[in-house]
Amino acid sequence: MIKQEDFFKKITSHAKEYGFIFQSSEIYEGLSAVYDYGQNGVELKNNIRSYWWKAMVQFHDNIVGIDAAIFMHPTTWKASGHVDAFSDPLIDNKDSKKRYRADVLVEDYLAKIEDKINKEVEKARKRFGESFDEQQFLTTNPRVLEYVNQTDDIKKRLYGAMESSDMVAFKQLIEDLAIVCPISGTRNWTEVRHFNLMFSTQMGSTADGASEVYLRPETAQGIFVNYLNVQKTGRMKIPFGIAQTGKAFRNEIVARQFIFRMREFEQMEMQFFVRPGEELNWFEHWKKERMKWHLSMGIPATKYRFHDHEKLAHYANAAADIEFEFPFGFKELEGIHSRTDFDLGAHQKYSGKKLQYFDPELNESYVPYVVETSIGLDRMFLAMLSNSYKEEKLEDGTERVVLMLPPVLAPVKAAILPLVAKDGLPEKARQIMDSLKFDFNCQYEEKDSIGKRYRRQDAIGTPFCLTVDHQTIEDNTVTIRDRDTMKQERIDVNLLHEIIAKKIRPDYQL
Ligand code: ATP
Repeated sequence: MIKQEDFFKKITSHAKEYGFIFQSSEIYEGLSAVYDYGQNGVELKNNIRSYWWKAMVQFHDNIVGIDAAIFMHPTTWKASGHVDAFSDPLIDNKDSKKRYRADVLVEDYLAKIEDKINKEVEKARKRFGESFDEQQFLTTNPRVLEYVNQTDDIKKRLYGAMESSDMVAFKQLIEDLAIVCPISGTRNWTEVRHFNLMFSTQMGSTADGASEVYLRPETAQGIFVNYLNVQKTGRMKIPFGIAQTGKAFRNEIVARQFIFRMREFEQMEMQFFVRPGEELNWFEHWKKERMKWHLSMGIPATKYRFHDHEKLAHYANAAADIEFEFPFGFKELEGIHSRTDFDLGAHQKYSGKKLQYFDPELNESYVPYVVETSIGLDRMFLAMLSNSYKEEKLEDGTERVVLMLPPVLAPVKAAILPLVAKDGLPEKARQIMDSLKFDFNCQYEEKDSIGKRYRRQDAIGTPFCLTVDHQTIEDNTVTIRDRDTMKQERIDVNLLHEIIAKKIRPDYQL
């Protein structure tokens, strides 16, 4: 078993060594929480985006896509609430000089109590064996009850402080819980302060009277302000959705988990416009549908779980996360939010333009309600990378590192390998590659022994290696090696296209 921390280090160094992810501006010591995608990373990222797009836009008659600009009129962010409320409570430890999110410090404290409860449950399960009733234990054991009361009390104070934006109450909570800095171990804290997460810049030259604009912190607002344009020009009937992928920027306070939390990242969002009153049914629908998408790639269901929000954002009347088991535990991968008519209502108010829908069945106009699905592309990348990294001991005593990526996401679908670089084998291999490369990203390799070439392809997650040998010239067959089983079969070259296409098609139906 590899320790969790070591495992995370292995993934980051593998990502660099094989051209998936580089630190931004590395030659200048890098830029914190900003990353570049390398030659294999860009392919994996494109494939995640493209599979999401297919499942959302291509599979649904009533969902269309757009690509809005990153810069938007500054009033957009006033209306959306980001100018006034998109901030985190920030606190510094004076000894370690480390900066933290005050809410995260409290949440980590809560997680420790939860761990204690889980430990009590496990102990009791061992003690009582078959007859153990977990529910009864949780509601009657005095020690557990004390932990639960403690948790409830802390949550009440935490959510209260967040809701009323009460920084003094935050500080008091951290002091009362005697939370220490994980680095210095001291309680020498500064006051808690607001910190707006939006990056701003100037548009136009100063002489023209430059105005302050923001780098968008989410893609959703580009969809809301285009709601009417798309609805009218696409003659869309409710319920319908608008999907978009693109960059978002947040000046995150704590950004120490590789590509999990970045300052520049990419989102894949879909806003689904529905009749008021029907939003909670659609919310349940999209929760199921999105989980189906994740599971369609063959990753075990135990790696995913839902987390229903207890504390709702000011714009939501229901919210849930799809959490994934990252190397550092279960964390948010995707959010599904029932955003009511908050956003369209606010844009209507600030712009003075009607953003309504005339419903011919009801014969009335209304501001539609919105259910959104929002997933971080880079977070999905990390989920896939960490889940697929395996170190295997082989029968002959050697080891291999293999990325067991879902085939639909693999950067290279097939490697074409002439056994030797002579006797017409390279030419034949090139011919095979030419017949496949429009539909599949293929790689041609003739350097090194075939074994070494297999290892290199395993390390980037290539589902198939096709070896071209002397028999290929005679009977037009190649050996096809499966990445996961390492089994080899001889097959006719004419079947390759069909075999690869079948392998990379996920099992996703609406
Ligand atoms: P978190 O609680 O982790 O900060 P959030 O609830 O603020 O996330 P949303 O605003 O709901 O996130 O954004 C939707 C999705 O965008 C998230 O589920 C996540 O996958 C992704 N995301 C958000 N912030 C970042 C970031 N800084 N870096 C990478 N991905 C991010």
